[in-house]
Amino acid sequence: MAPSDPASRAEPSTTDRNVKHVVLGDLLFPTWYQSIYPEDLVSKDTDRLYVCRWCFRYSCDSHAYAQHTRLCQHRTTPPGTKVYDHGGYSVWELDGEYHKLYAQNLSLFAKLFLDHKSVFFDVVSFLYYLLVFTNPQDSDNYYILGFFSKEKLSWDANNLACILVFPPYQRKQLGKLLMGVSYKISSWERDSGLIGGPERPLSELGRRSYTRFWEERIARYLLLQPKSPKHSKRKQSHELMTVQDIGLATGMLTEDVITALKGLGVVEPVTLAKKRKTRDSSGEAGSFEDAATVSIRKSKVLEWAKSHHMVLEDPVRNEGFLGKWAPRESIEENNINSDSEDG
Ligand SMILES: [Zn+2]
Repeated sequence: MAPSDPASRAEPSTTDRNVKHVVLGDLLFPTWYQSIYPEDLVSKDTDRLYVCRWCFRYSCDSHAYAQHTRLCQHRTTPPGTKVYDHGGYSVWELDGEYHKLYAQNLSLFAKLFLDHKSVFFDVVSFLYYLLVFTNPQDSDNYYILGFFSKEKLSWDANNLACILVFPPYQRKQLGKLLMGVSYKISSWERDSGLIGGPERPLSELGRRSYTRFWEERIARYLLLQPKSPKHSKRKQSHELMTVQDIGLATGMLTEDVITALKGLGVVEPVTLAKKRKTRDSSGEAGSFEDAATVSIRKSKVLEWAKSHHMVLEDPVRNEGFLGKWAPRESIEENNINSDSEDG
């Protein structure tokens, strides 16, 4: 499973798209897939569909669109609650039940660039997370760059249902930012948190994006994790961990950890003698000799990180999370310093 295969890149098919282009704010770009806009409002052969960049209302009529953008109720601030804010990028959470029309219009727009057939009608059981950029020099003006959705109650522990960075904003690592936020919000770090991953099956593009994201996540973990105290006094420079340990530490499913480790290409077989030497004296993790024990050199991970131009620092910053997702210390600070509102 090679992580990248340029030939399978989802190419826009030009024949069956009933909406050929969209105008989003002042950007004009082609669509990728068949739309599911109501046919009485958006005819089968629409060259340009005008979509409000703040609320995703749409019109085929440029005058109606221009009129709307002067009055749009969301022109100064996105709907929902801000849950993350760092470096000009913020993430806003909104509930499909309380922002039904907004969620429907966002979903209709997203469908132009996603090949999914379902999930676009039942907005009530989903939460939506908008990725917003605000230029600090122009703080009243904001841009929605993409979003992900998440089922409120996922029996499969999916931390994400759909993800899209709008085409003009793609190839800026923003998908990784959203994926990172989705893992954080799946709250595996909290007491009742779940380890999860994106809803399957993934599209080809989704699989490649996730594989890369997981590789970087694991590489970062292996390179940056603090050495556990129980190993610090040992002479050996190695540490024994299971794939499940890595999954627990990163909030990732075992299968995704394995995908990432394979993709990184840093896994080496270990000889039996070496295995005995590295075996944890507590024996708590069971018989490692039965399981496939492998070795990973940090230097190889670092090599991978360099050759893939990976930024070592996680683009998703803990201190960027707000409200119920804020790091514990800053919640305490807020409670001391201000009348905090619970949400
Ligand atoms: Zn609007």
